[in-house]
Amino acid sequence: MKKSAYKRVVLKLSGEALQGKKGYGIDPSVTGAIAKEIKDIKRLGVQIAIVMGGGNIYRGATASKQGVDRIIADYMGMLATVINGLALQDVLEKAGVMTRVQTAIDMQEIAEPYIRRRAVRHLEKGLVVIFVAGTGNPYFSTDTAASLRAIEINADVILKATNVDGVYSADPKKNKSAKKFKSLKYIEVLNKGLKVMDATAVSLCMDNSLPIIVFNLTKKGNIKRVILGEKIGTAVK
Ligand code: UDP
Repeated sequence: MKKSAYKRVVLKLSGEALQGKKGYGIDPSVTGAIAKEIKDIKRLGVQIAIVMGGGNIYRGATASKQGVDRIIADYMGMLATVINGLALQDVLEKAGVMTRVQTAIDMQEIAEPYIRRRAVRHLEKGLVVIFVAGTGNPYFSTDTAASLRAIEINADVILKATNVDGVYSADPKKNKSAKKFKSLKYIEVLNKGLKVMDATAVSLCMDNSLPIIVFNLTKKGNIKRVILGEKIGTAVK
């Protein structure tokens, strides 16, 4: 039986990861497939917390450019992450994986409040904890929420799921000569302005020596490969 390379991980899922080819919202076949992969990796004995994004439904910065007050727009974005988190909870529990959703903005009928020690206890008992509502503060991102939660719960690594194979020198979909980096230093990511996570998220990881692995979620079995320690994607450390 293969074993996980990590004891505890934070998986950062962007909202886009749930929308599949639809270009908006949630595609049940995509969330179902993610749930199956997560069920599969639970067998490797790894503790998994998921930080859920919301960009498939609402992005504060985009809406504010269209005239919506930035702070209201950001709260709407945070609420979008709650919708996604509940969708993920549904498919995971249908797949037989026990979960808890913890929210940074209180809504007691829907989810538990974020309580660090309780989150850790759930993880120790083998539940998957889904963190929603980001950091609870406007002007932040769910990437920053992922860095913050990962540090708070002492995760070994952040697994940042994307739809390309890692971090490239340019957009590989537009530029054929774009080069993939196998590994990067935090400071290189910041200096080169590479699109790994936003600068706040990367500097939080840098200050706390928390590695980030950027990998392609759209390739089947990739979450498992990363968890087993296979060198796919790009490692930022
Ligand atoms: N957001 C926020 N504070 C946070 C996390 C998220 O205000 O701590 C808002 C912000 O408007 C953002 C939206 O929620 O655009 C959705 O999150 P994000 O863009 O990070 O989602 P992703 O790109 O991962 O789908």
